[in-house]
Amino acid sequence: MIPFLDLKAQYRQIKDEVGAAIMKVVDSGAYVGAGPEGKPFEAEFAAYCGVADAAGVNSGTTALHLALLAAGVKPGDEVITVGATFVATTAAVLYANAKPVFVDVDPATWTMDPSRIEAAITPRTKAILPVHLHGLMADMDPIMEIANRHGLKVVEDCAQAHGAEYKGRRAGSIGHVGCFSFYPGKNLGAYGEGGAIVSNDPEIMKTVRMLRDWGQAKKYDHVLKGFNARLDEIQAAVLRVKLKYIEGWTEGRRAVAARYEAGLSSLGIGIPKPPAHCRHVYHVYAIRSADRDGLQAKLQEAGVSTGIHYPVPVHLQTAYADLGYKAGDLPVTEQIASEWLSLPMFAELEPAQVDKVVDAVKAAAGN
Ligand SMILES: *Cc1c(COP(=O)(O)O)cnc(C)c1O
Repeated sequence: MIPFLDLKAQYRQIKDEVGAAIMKVVDSGAYVGAGPEGKPFEAEFAAYCGVADAAGVNSGTTALHLALLAAGVKPGDEVITVGATFVATTAAVLYANAKPVFVDVDPATWTMDPSRIEAAITPRTKAILPVHLHGLMADMDPIMEIANRHGLKVVEDCAQAHGAEYKGRRAGSIGHVGCFSFYPGKNLGAYGEGGAIVSNDPEIMKTVRMLRDWGQAKKYDHVLKGFNARLDEIQAAVLRVKLKYIEGWTEGRRAVAARYEAGLSSLGIGIPKPPAHCRHVYHVYAIRSADRDGLQAKLQEAGVSTGIHYPVPVHLQTAYADLGYKAGDLPVTEQIASEWLSLPMFAELEPAQVDKVVDAVKAAAGN
């Protein structure tokens, strides 16, 4: 069986180094907050993203929540976002007591369609929240142009896009603030929960640092209604080790994607076609098929594990029925959600395994 994801294959490469880093934290007695591991990790991650500053937090969801607050989103404000994403993007908007307003995605890239944004802007709109889905950055130039013209903040959901690039600029460095997840399965994954907020705006970063630590300006001086949302030191230590290797792992993912593309492009099924000005980091490699469920079953029989990211778009989830959306509201999003299928994707996949996946897809598709 070819696994969809094998986190242990990566762990084996760094076992000794990461084990020593974890024990160093345990020995140190400093376990939470931006300490001896967290502080340098923030500087190293900011440099990696090409931004002035980064702040560690306890998850990607928290990163989005605190970034929206720091960007000035207030109760009752509207945030324009997409339904083609993991549910956390929407949840974070609701945690900020704001209203998510969904726009459709571009059929070619599956990211926010900038041509849909202006019709969704109202006097309550405060921010735009594009998602760099599967590791491909949204079309940031028109998004920033519209945001600047209307005085809106742009919060990038970079949870799947560590090191992704748009015209040479990295995810998180183009909007007013960027949000990362270090969930174990993400391209840069902790050994537990974690996230980060990145920005070039010192005011946003100052607010974020207070919000994650009980709204304190200094100890026991609570100037904001804050949260217990710090990154723990063991996770920071793990992330510092992994950050040294992420470029190699990303190139490994891109090599797997290139081999998939070479094998599948003649089949007449939908495969990712990133624009030439983007560096896709392939958190997910999804193909499209009108008979997605049939294809998934055949691949399972052939020994290939697959996933679906995501089968039900957020605007049609039961929990969010009160937002008032219905089937047909986001036709491109809904069409893609019924068709996409994620193939095995991790840096350590062997060329022979990739070829086996390609052959199984070809056989299933009748080629
Ligand atoms: C994973 C993910 C999140 C949430 O990150 P967590 O660390 O799991 O809280 C948010 N948005 C997207 C697009 C994600 O994939």
